[in-house]
Amino acid sequence: EYRLEMRGVSKSFPGVKALDNIHLNVRPGSVHALMGENGAGKSTLMKCLFGIYTMDTGEVYVDGEKMNILNPDDALHKGLAMVHQELQPVPARSIAENMFLGRYPTINFGPLKVIDHKKMESEAAKWLKEVKLNVNPNELLQTLSISQMQSVEIAKAVSMGAKIIILDEPTSSLTENEVSGLFKIIRELRQKGVSLIYISHKMAEIREIADDITIMRDGTYVGTWEVKNISDGEIIKQMVGRELSNIYP
Ligand code: ADP
Ligand code: MG
Ligand code: MG
Repeated sequence: EYRLEMRGVSKSFPGVKALDNIHLNVRPGSVHALMGENGAGKSTLMKCLFGIYTMDTGEVYVDGEKMNILNPDDALHKGLAMVHQELQPVPARSIAENMFLGRYPTINFGPLKVIDHKKMESEAAKWLKEVKLNVNPNELLQTLSISQMQSVEIAKAVSMGAKIIILDEPTSSLTENEVSGLFKIIRELRQKGVSLIYISHKMAEIREIADDITIMRDGTYVGTWEVKNISDGEIIKQMVGRELSNIYP
């Protein structure tokens, strides 16, 4: 049984069919790479998954149960979390507050009265340790590096019991050391049974971290493979739809 199944997802915008009958089957405790050239529809597929866009057709199942996901907060409560390509934290709030924002419908931009601050801080500290982030939860989020903010987002997802975490080009602004740190966290999450969807253009990263790969091209589903069963050259060929081995390293 799959952790996540997307079946027959289609989505059109005026003048463009962004997704045409897309399938995505993610195994429990696996890292699933989603690859395709710019404009292939990867981000649109994830936005459909999180209810940011309404799909024209298609169904979503989590652990075999059909889900109707209304918006990203709803997704979070149903076990799906997204770590964005462009992070969307509230920089002038503390790390702990950012981890608790959006968790309760009543919390908005007023004072966070719903939960006890001391309790919130100790909770936050516990989950930050889980992602090996050695920071004071009372610090403002804006004091952190991009990599550290990303870890806060992952900690938040984990603290909410996320079963599926989506990383959209997570390494685009990370140093080599930060990438190693992120991969260590990903491996530990996978070990604990969390499934991750890893969107990236970087072949070496896919090789290193992903178990399975789904390739999209021009809004269509090309196929799904175990990474160990498909060569770099074949991945590129499937992404662009023809032999083009000199373009990508
Ligand atoms: P990828 O993430 O693989 O680079 P996208 O999902 O961003 O691809 O885009 C897929 C296609 O859908 C592109 O042709 C893009 O221009 C189009 N698209 C995405 N979002 C919108 C939108 N809100 N309105 C119109 N077209 C869109
Ligand atoms: Mg893109
Ligand atoms: Mg994208």
